[in-house]
Order: sequence, then structure tokens, then C-alpha cells
Amino acid sequence: MHFELTEAQRSLREEARKFAREEIEPRARELDRSETYPEEILAKLGERRYAGLTLPEEYGGRGEGLVELALVVEELSAALMSVASSLALHLGVATVVERFGTDEQRDTYLPEMATYDTVGALGLSEANAGSNKLQMETRARRDGSEWVLNGHKQWVTNFLDADVVLTYAKTGPDEDAPHNVSAFLVPAAEFEVETVWETLGAKSVKSPRVTLSDVRVGDDRLVGEAGEAYVQRGTVHTGVNVPARGVGIARAALEDTVEYTRDREQYGGTISDFQGVRWEVAKMAERVDTARLLTLRAADRADRAEAGADVRRETSMAKIRATQAAVDNANDAVQLHGGVGYTTERDVERYLRDARLLTIAGGPNETHKNTLADAVFDS
Ligand SMILES: Cc1cc2nc3c(=O)[nH]c(=O)nc-3n(C[C@H](O)[C@H](O)[C@H](O)COP(=O)(O)OP(=O)(O)OC[C@H]3O[C@@H](n4cnc5c(N)ncnc54)[C@H](O)[C@@H]3O)c2cc1C
Repeated sequence: MHFELTEAQRSLREEARKFAREEIEPRARELDRSETYPEEILAKLGERRYAGLTLPEEYGGRGEGLVELALVVEELSAALMSVASSLALHLGVATVVERFGTDEQRDTYLPEMATYDTVGALGLSEANAGSNKLQMETRARRDGSEWVLNGHKQWVTNFLDADVVLTYAKTGPDEDAPHNVSAFLVPAAEFEVETVWETLGAKSVKSPRVTLSDVRVGDDRLVGEAGEAYVQRGTVHTGVNVPARGVGIARAALEDTVEYTRDREQYGGTISDFQGVRWEVAKMAERVDTARLLTLRAADRADRAEAGADVRRETSMAKIRATQAAVDNANDAVQLHGGVGYTTERDVERYLRDARLLTIAGGPNETHKNTLADAVFDS
């Protein structure tokens, strides 16, 4: 068993860390405060083909695996979680096109997606289809050689800057579930924006509710086999980006806390002299390491798995542990920074607001506990 990254993985992590320190960290607070989409940062990530990190090189990608995705996402998220979520959701859409699309779709979309010149968004959740996506109400009906889509999608991260939305819609009767859902690459311009929410965190990238009204698309927009999109989606594991985002926030919270408690003086010494503080910091470090180990194990298992291999145990365990680590570390970081941690002068209050999303998005942790328990009982 090897716990060390390869030289190429270490070098990729260094490259991503340098990018995050130089390009994201100096702007993170302002982007969050002004709720501004990190367009320039994402364009630079596109130039470096991080937007196609796990796509094959023949389509302009970097041909990396999910372990590398987890390493890069951790670095980006440690600087600003929203940048990591934009990139990862986009890459998740591109991966579905790569895995299940036609040659023509791959040639059309992937080279531009790899450079972030074509931006993807995921239209899966709806108002009544949150943790249970099969409750979706959006429908696509066949009309001659076209599909006609009606309904809405909710929480479409990246939508305001997206070019295409990978839109899941029912194309078969409810009794055929889960073989009654298809996926379409719908131009973002075909949607109407209904609600752009004010959110607790993740403020620089919006996830609005958008509607589709008699939108017509041809078969060239259908990705994968009709009726099988939901099942096929279950074999795509780019969702490991969510725990990786958790690791990034948990680590940033720890690093800031170590630095702050070493400097802050009270009672004639630094607060890092107090055993109570040291034990909290030790617990934070333990959370970072367990979160990262579980996340990299999940990514590695998914990289090695044959299509269809069961990685539920690893992926759900990582999701639960790493996202909770982010919340707990951010919360402890605010406490150990005292009053200044409660202000926007420091990053720790943002970590807490951003971390709070992660136990909900990507499927609430409660549903991942169900999945994990199923995997344990099935094994
Ligand atoms: C900022 C943001 C960005 C997002 N981005 C995207 C995106 O780009 N694309 C996309 O398709 N979706 C996206 N989502 C949607 C996200 O995946 C859903 O919010 C999530 O799956 C939960 O659905 P819900 O919010 O409807 O919660 P619900 O399903 O209504 O659940 C509410 C709560 O009930 C509890 N709960 C639910 N089920 C169970 C259970 N089985 N057992 C015990 N407790 C349970 C949990 O505490 C859960 O948080 C995003 C969400 C947010 C908030």
C-alpha cells in the first residue's frame, strides 16, 4: 500500500496551489462580498485546461483521473469554494457528454468545454425533486423528429454564465423509473430565469431557478440512450468533487487558525499556548487528514473501478465525513479567531457560510448515510 502521491500528482497539486494562491486568494473576499462571478479566474483555468482536467487529451483535456480532480479541487476550494464548484459542475457535464454522447457531440462540445469557452451547467434538481431526483416534473415529449421540453430546473449552478445546460427530463412513464429519464444539451438561451436566490454562502456563483416552455431540440441534443440518463449518471463519479471541496475548506480553516492562534496574545502568552486551544487545533488537523484520506480513497476506487463497479461505500463515506469536517473546522476557526473571526476582515466567516452548502448539495448527507448503510448491508 502506498500513501504517497506520484511525482506527477504532487507537481499538479503544486501547480494548482500556486494558481490558487496567486490568482484566487487575493480576490476571494471581494468576489464574495460583491457577489461577482469569478469569470477571469475561470477563463485562466480554462487556458490551463483545468476545465478539461479529466477529459481525454484528444478532446483538448488533460487526461487526468479523479484523484487528480480531487487534488485540484481541494486547492481551488481552499482559496474560494465557488470557483471549485463552478469548475467541477462544468466538468461533470462535460464528462457525461464524453462518456455517453455521440462522436459528433464530443467533437462539437468537448474541445471548447476543456478551455471553458463553452460553459456547462447541470439541470437535474427541481423544486419537488431535491434529494429524490426521480420526482422530477420536467418532461420531454416526442414531436416528429424533435423533442419538446416543458418544466423547470432549480439550483442550476453557473447558469447565468452558461452556454449549455445538461437538462434531465422524463421521457417515459413513471412506472418505468429509473429508466424513464433522458438528458439533453439545451442552450442556456432557451430558458427563462425565474428566481436568483440570495444565499448564505457560495455568493459569487449563482444557482437560479429557470423554466423551459415548449423548447424544441433535435436528436443531436439528446445525450446517451433515451430513458437511460438517470441510470448512466450513477456510473459517473465526478461527484467526488464535493468532499474534495470540503477538504479544501477544512484545511484552509485549520491553516488560518494555526497562524492566528500563534500570533494572538492574551494573558501574557499566545492563545496557542492554551491546552484547550491546542486540542481544538489537533482535532481540526485530524478532521482534515481523515477527510482527505477518505476522499482520495473514493477517487482512487472510482478511477480503478470498471464501469458499474460498486463504489457507494467509499464515495458516500467521503461525502459525509469531508463535508462535515468543513463545517466543523470552519465553525471552530470562527471560535478560535474570537470577535475578528465574526467579521469579514477574515476569511473564516466565509468558510463557514460556504461549508454549510456542502452537507446539502450533491445530495444531503442523510441520503448518503442511507446509501452507505445499503452498501454495508449489501456487502
Ligand atoms: C447553492 C446550491 C447549488 C446547487 N447546484 C446544483 C446544480 O448545479 N444542479 C443541480 O441539479 N442541483 C443543484 N443543487 C441541488 C442540490 O443537489 C439539492 O439541494 C439537494 O440534492 C437537496 O435537495 P433539496 O434542497 O430539495 O432538499 P430536500 O430533498 O427537500 O431535503 C431537505 C432536507 O431533508 C432531509 N432529508 C432529505 N431526504 C432525507 C432522507 N432520505 N432521510 C433523512 N433526511 C432526509 C435533509 O436534511 C435535507 O437537507 C444545488 C443546491 C444548492 C443549495
